[in-house]
Amino acid sequence: MRILVINAGSSSLKYQLFDMTNESVLASGRVERIGMDSSIVTHEPTDKPEVKDVSEILDHVTAVKRVIDLLVHPEHGVIRSMDEIDAVGHRVVHGGETFKESVLVDQDVKLEIRNLFDLAPLHNPAHMMGINAVDTNLPEVPQAVVFDTAFHQSMPPVAYLYPIPMVLYRRHKIRRYGFHGTSHNYVSQQAAELLGKPLEELKMVTCHIGNGASCTAIMGGKSVDTSMGLTPLEGLMMGTRSGDLDPAIVPFTMNKEDLTLSEVNSMLNKHSGLMAISGISSDMREIVDSMEEGDRNAKLAFDMYTYRVRKYIGSYVAAMDGLDVLVFTAGVGENSVQLRDAVCSGLSYFGVKLDPELNKQRSKQARIISAPDSRTKVMVVPTNEELIIARDTYRLVLEQEKQENYEI
Ligand code: AMP
Repeated sequence: MRILVINAGSSSLKYQLFDMTNESVLASGRVERIGMDSSIVTHEPTDKPEVKDVSEILDHVTAVKRVIDLLVHPEHGVIRSMDEIDAVGHRVVHGGETFKESVLVDQDVKLEIRNLFDLAPLHNPAHMMGINAVDTNLPEVPQAVVFDTAFHQSMPPVAYLYPIPMVLYRRHKIRRYGFHGTSHNYVSQQAAELLGKPLEELKMVTCHIGNGASCTAIMGGKSVDTSMGLTPLEGLMMGTRSGDLDPAIVPFTMNKEDLTLSEVNSMLNKHSGLMAISGISSDMREIVDSMEEGDRNAKLAFDMYTYRVRKYIGSYVAAMDGLDVLVFTAGVGENSVQLRDAVCSGLSYFGVKLDPELNKQRSKQARIISAPDSRTKVMVVPTNEELIIARDTYRLVLEQEKQENYEI
């Protein structure tokens, strides 16, 4: 079975085509600047050279058509016809309280995703455009949706409610939802597998640290708390996002600087975090390089960033009354030796002891980086959100086929 995974944004669309017989990627790519006059398409077939072109792609329907044309192209393609695409899986950021797991798309599901537009105004409408574009181009092909929030629906009320008037939860569903759920779920399963221990018996903190960053407390394979909240702004300090701060800073800054709500919103999402403190970059590679060259602002940004990761880990040890495994994943978590070292060096009280040599080794494989006598195991597990979307889609389509066979 071949599954096309799509991550549709408002002006971009990323894709990967999987062959599920061996979970290999046949091709991947992206369409950028959709709706603008010069859209850029980058198509990367696994065993052929990359193709890049600039053309006018005015909407998502045309973008999906372009992707299909490339996948079946006689020279650059990887399949003979579009009939070889058996299903499409979409990443959807917000599933609200409705979606506790991935589902196949039907009219009710579409309606529900639309009802959640308010909670993710930048993301869910774009995902819906992606779903509709597939409907138009591949009307017979089943589609599934995999939600960033779904894994965190196991959180108890004590973790997901905010101490503000309950009417706001009842009326507007203001609560913690959490994000990166697909990644936290995947790396926790991989970590248990590598350790050879049942997930049900483990207390884990998974740190997904990329451009966006979040920590999750996972007990018995279930998310019991996570650092992102109603939106992906809460929690850790990030590349350009502030993460946690005193909410009173918002009205105070508006007043003192004569800023509008949308200006403050933009400040906290796009002009804060590593970028704001270092004054250099939101990219951890540049922060570390500048820090090593003696830049004091870069050092302050790095120290604040890692301090906040450590504080979250500490609070989740308290939430779970223990810790067996600490997992690092995503761009920074998988690659930054310095970040892992700085975070772990303050966690000795929790039985964390990093092996400096193992921490330095570069590999694309999941691995243990703690010393053999470390009470808590520390691991690096590369995340693969597209693969999980493909697996969930595959499982749902097979289940539906089985169901239809019974009905016959
Ligand atoms: P992601 O959002 O998971 O794709 O992560 C992207 C981020 O990972 C980039 O913005 C970089 O800051 C970071 N990153 C990638 N490679 C490295 C590296 N070798 N060291 C530190 N940070 C890295």
